[in-house]
Amino acid sequence: MAQKVLGDDSTISMASLSSAAEILNTAHTLQTPARQTGTSDKGKSNTCEGHTVLSSNGEQPCMSVAVQAVEHINETSLETFLAELDQEADKYEYDTSYIHLEEKTLADQLSEWLLQFNITREAGSNLLHILHLYHPDLPVDPRTLLGSLRTVETENRCGGLYYYFGLKNLIVHAITDDTPESITLQSNVDGIPLFGSSAGQFWPILLSVSGAQPSVLALFYGDKKPSDVESFLEPFLEEFKSLDGVLNYNGKAYTLRLGSFVCDAPARAFMKRIIGHTGYHSCERCCSKGERIDSRTVLSNEVDTELRNGVVFDELGYTGTHQTGQSPLIGVIDCVTGFVLDYMHLVCLGVMRRMVTYWKKGVGTPARLSPSLLRVLSARLDLLRGKLPSDIARQPRAIYHSDRWKATEFRTLMLYTGPVVLEGILSNQHYRHFCLLSLAMNILLEKNDEVRKYYLNYARELLALFVSQCHVLYGASFISYNIHSLLHLADDCVNHNCSLDDLSAFPYENMLGALKSLVRSPNNPVAQVVKRLKATAGSFRPGKLCHEKISANPRDSVFMLQCGQLVQIVAIEDNSKILCKVLQSHILKTLYNYPANSKDFGIVKVLKSKLASIAVEPFNISDIERKVICIELSNNAEYLAFLPLRHLYTSVRETNS
Ligand SMILES: [Zn+2]
Repeated sequence: MAQKVLGDDSTISMASLSSAAEILNTAHTLQTPARQTGTSDKGKSNTCEGHTVLSSNGEQPCMSVAVQAVEHINETSLETFLAELDQEADKYEYDTSYIHLEEKTLADQLSEWLLQFNITREAGSNLLHILHLYHPDLPVDPRTLLGSLRTVETENRCGGLYYYFGLKNLIVHAITDDTPESITLQSNVDGIPLFGSSAGQFWPILLSVSGAQPSVLALFYGDKKPSDVESFLEPFLEEFKSLDGVLNYNGKAYTLRLGSFVCDAPARAFMKRIIGHTGYHSCERCCSKGERIDSRTVLSNEVDTELRNGVVFDELGYTGTHQTGQSPLIGVIDCVTGFVLDYMHLVCLGVMRRMVTYWKKGVGTPARLSPSLLRVLSARLDLLRGKLPSDIARQPRAIYHSDRWKATEFRTLMLYTGPVVLEGILSNQHYRHFCLLSLAMNILLEKNDEVRKYYLNYARELLALFVSQCHVLYGASFISYNIHSLLHLADDCVNHNCSLDDLSAFPYENMLGALKSLVRSPNNPVAQVVKRLKATAGSFRPGKLCHEKISANPRDSVFMLQCGQLVQIVAIEDNSKILCKVLQSHILKTLYNYPANSKDFGIVKVLKSKLASIAVEPFNISDIERKVICIELSNNAEYLAFLPLRHLYTSVRETNS
């Protein structure tokens, strides 16, 4: 049967066929509700009606609810049992962490068989279609099967509970027809508090395979961060090293490379084993030494002549000043260039938040705004609420709320609304200084390689000028670790040959939020999340990474075409044709003149009256290159400002006429 199913050109070996036959024979006996007794080497176990009740710490469980639940399993399905367990957990204060369902299901064993023998997706799918006739619970897609492994074996590791999903399993899930044979892995490590009333926190290791949406590789839960980085990373690094840079799957040999870690500064310090970002020698890219001013650590406003390099780092050459120990990542990745200066934390939540705070509360600095100017600024932001494209998840809100602003709100102000709402509010010097940062970040986030590379050194110069002026415009203690690190930001685009948008924590942040939402009760959050992640079989999608709505609705109607023309859609026909007004170059005026003519970067303004008389022309939706934000000028409502969307513009598009 197997040969007929799999075809003559199948590469399936006799060993794999023999193994599959064994699984199916066993599965036949598992058709009845009675299950096999399991054993575990991870702790002491009790058996009850053929099921293992295990204490994760090796101690006898004291509560009887779980035992009763396990006794009940003979009369119900596993799905119902798990659902009931969750409900019980919500009702009672008891620990379910000791519960293990040890025996492997048919799905478990088939999943392992698929991975062990590198069965192609086509062959696996073919086999599953046949098995599905006799085992309707089995999925027909091997990827779904691989995600349905049921056993949740949390372990005690680095001071908390830990679960490792498996690197190979994760990558296989992420591989699509578009995945290049040379796979670059990007990892994110961060902590996220789970409950307001307790110290419980997750520390997941997230992984993105060649730019795909991130998945969870490992999950740690404890009252504080993992106690040591070696143990925390051990399963990941052991498996990564064992693969030796190659993964065979679906008839292809994929090469694997760990490209970058995208983390905030405290997580980078933890992973790299370096001093924290308030230390004098905290700069991760140069040997600049900070000083103490006004009770704050202040770093230099220029790059030190001695740059840090990975070889010296590997040899622990910065011990005593910068390094605090030997990172387990030495030899796995370049610990200097491989840890990117994630712009979400560094620029949006770091630099921009610092500037806004100084505008509001910078007592004794020339940056502070008067209450009346803050009121005008807030009113300008409120006016834009609901006017930005629907792709912008958080619409503008008053500057009074900036203490609660999310990273995306600081990004929106920096890239798009800032040049419009801050003009006439900040002093001319401060406005021009802000435009240095805004334009530099527009360049570094630009996804068009040719454009970004052309202006990259210019962006570096803009940021250097920005940092050099900070002490005059914001005071002597303004140059924190984040501000100084701007001097090194352009290097990440060079080192990784991509936009900063490809090196940001934004997609991981979405994932962290989604993980938190999977926790329904304080009892063993790791097991809850693992079960739910596996139940989604790899289709877990925490929000949209790329989304670009195309509509004739004004806020979603302005686009730049592949040919560079700016158009406003007035109608959509058949979901493929668009009728547009083309905004010819001669009506486009520069929005700001310093530090450059913003028109050169597609940032323009147009008299509204000029738009009325433009004739409509037909285009294809496929002609669209990216969305453009269109907002009224704050200080002259006769004009509209147009600012190209820099982040996430290559996207899965939706049409909505
Ligand atoms: Zn530096």
